[in-house]
Amino acid sequence: MASVVYDIIIVGAGPAGLTAAIYAARRKARVVVFEAETVGGQITKTPLIENYPGVLNISGSELAKKMQEQVRALGVEIKIERAVDIWKEGEGFVVKTERASYHSKAVILATGVQSKRLDVQGEEKFIGRGVSYCAICDAPLFANKTVVVVGGGDSAAKTALLVADYANKVILIHRRDALRAEPLLQDRLFANKKVQVIWNKVVEAIKGENLVEGVTLRDTKTNEKIDLPVGGIFVEVGGIPAAVLARKLGIETSEKGYVKVDKHQRTNVNGFFAAGDVTDFPLRQVSTAVGEGATAAISACEYIGK
Ligand SMILES: Cc1cc2nc3c(=O)[nH]c(=O)nc-3n(C[C@H](O)[C@H](O)[C@H](O)COP(=O)(O)OP(=O)(O)OC[C@H]3O[C@@H](n4cnc5c(N)ncnc54)[C@H](O)[C@@H]3O)c2cc1C
Repeated sequence: MASVVYDIIIVGAGPAGLTAAIYAARRKARVVVFEAETVGGQITKTPLIENYPGVLNISGSELAKKMQEQVRALGVEIKIERAVDIWKEGEGFVVKTERASYHSKAVILATGVQSKRLDVQGEEKFIGRGVSYCAICDAPLFANKTVVVVGGGDSAAKTALLVADYANKVILIHRRDALRAEPLLQDRLFANKKVQVIWNKVVEAIKGENLVEGVTLRDTKTNEKIDLPVGGIFVEVGGIPAAVLARKLGIETSEKGYVKVDKHQRTNVNGFFAAGDVTDFPLRQVSTAVGEGATAAISACEYIGK
């Protein structure tokens, strides 16, 4: 029996992919969404979203649940299968997952970003033993400890605030002398008595026996090194676009590896669209991801004549 040919395969079930699924399904396109890990993507890692219009505040996992319900209510299948390869076949595409190969007329890549590592001595060894990239998953494990958070953006500020609910003390390490985080978040951070910010420092090594016991910091101006005894470290230094599959297919990416798209979310390969954090649009937020997801879906539907 011939295998199903989908109209559109969406890779990634974060806000961009789920929005694309809603818009494509409402145009009666035959859609499937593949998700490698957690439906909802990065938002499931944050306890609080306060800048998504229409919702005063909501936990990321609650927003993800609502998006997922809306997608499923339209009859779209979300398969928990990691896409491992994509290639062109005739006019369409084949998406190979860990389990099977699926055919479609168009593809929307919405794979987002993966947490960037520090790439320092000890980091790999202590993952799950004091090194974490997900505060919402791990913050309660650091009750009554002194913990370091590395980074200077919104995610680092939010992580520091969340970890401070559990830890004795949170030390935010930033390589510059000013944060990039929203001023509103900075106000909360500086008002929190448990949080200390250390400027112009980078983590050079993570140390311990079986668990993290300390970090070595280097001053970015003087190169002076200091050892800091800490019980854990949360790394929030940005993301790396999950664009390996696209590059293999010959999709153009920016210098930093983000997928290049036009204002219709089209890539340089006909029928292949991209949306959300994986693209080279500079603002990486839920509101922009859903906007790009909607546009990608409409463009893909027009491409296949739906
Ligand atoms: C701690 C934190 C706090 C944040 N707070 C806010 C906030 O308050 N407000 C806001 O607007 N934004 C916030 N953001 C940013 C926001 O979460 C992202 O901009 C948004 O999730 C991007 O959506 P996306 O769908 O493009 O990508 P993602 O959310 O990254 O989703 C991509 C999905 O694709 C999946 N995937 C990747 N590769 C494959 C593959 N090969 N096969 C199948 N699936 C794959 C991933 O597992 C993931 O689920 C925050 C981010 C973090 C990390």
